[in-house]
Amino acid sequence: MDPIHAAISILSTAQKIVTFSGAGLSAESGIPTFREAQTGYWARYDPAELASPGGFSQDPELVINWYNDRRSTIAQAQPNAAHRALAGRQDIVHVTQNIDHLLETAGAKSVLHLHGRIDSDRCNLSCGYAEPIDIADPPGLRNCPDCRAALRPSVVWFGEPLPQSTWDAAVQAVSTADVLLVVGTSGVVYPAASLVDLARSCGAAVVVVNTEPTRSIADVALIGPATELVPRLLTA
Ligand code: NAD
Repeated sequence: MDPIHAAISILSTAQKIVTFSGAGLSAESGIPTFREAQTGYWARYDPAELASPGGFSQDPELVINWYNDRRSTIAQAQPNAAHRALAGRQDIVHVTQNIDHLLETAGAKSVLHLHGRIDSDRCNLSCGYAEPIDIADPPGLRNCPDCRAALRPSVVWFGEPLPQSTWDAAVQAVSTADVLLVVGTSGVVYPAASLVDLARSCGAAVVVVNTEPTRSIADVALIGPATELVPRLLTA
């Protein structure tokens, strides 16, 4: 059997499908992956350094300007055919590393954002203050109204722990899945990437969709764009 039909067969007989997505899912909506994002002005900076506690303490204004630039891009983006196909299956739990809202805009109800969301800011000192952000017109660097520390995006930076309750829910979903559908992630950011190994060790089949070969261990690895492959897999 060719890989696409093998994947369709695996997915069509599954009782419980869980997805695990990364930046490649939203790439065709015009939101660059970190590798693509290194263009123009931002080519001088390493995203992994900007998206870090050290980067923020060194130059908070630079980090906020970078996030606000990303917010403007995300504000203009629409869900693509892959988001719509995923959201069309209300029985699926979606675990995503993406900080955009495109799965929800497409209508998905069960989305676990392992790395937080870009449409919110929170206190950098974790006093508990958080507020929603209009990503089409985001405010600049400012202080927490409660404790006067700086406000920062409510996202998980490199080197920071994942939100415990979200992680627990993701582990629970993945460890009870028949199939983990992995879409558009390089599989190099940990601990998120360990969910693929967890799924396999718990007996799930792993189907990977990516434009390039990845490090994820897969039962079936499909090479191609998410907008082409995901609708074929889920609507067959
Ligand atoms: P990554 O940038 O490391 O990898 C993206 C992967 O997507 C690559 O393997 C690439 O080959 C693949 N890809 C690119 N275009 C694709 C397409 N059209 N169809 C299928 N696959 C495609 O991203 P990652 O694995 O998500 O991890 C890096 C970090 O980047 C995460 O922490 C994530 O939060 C952050 N990030 C998120 C967004 C977003 O929210 N949209 C954007 C950029 C980065």
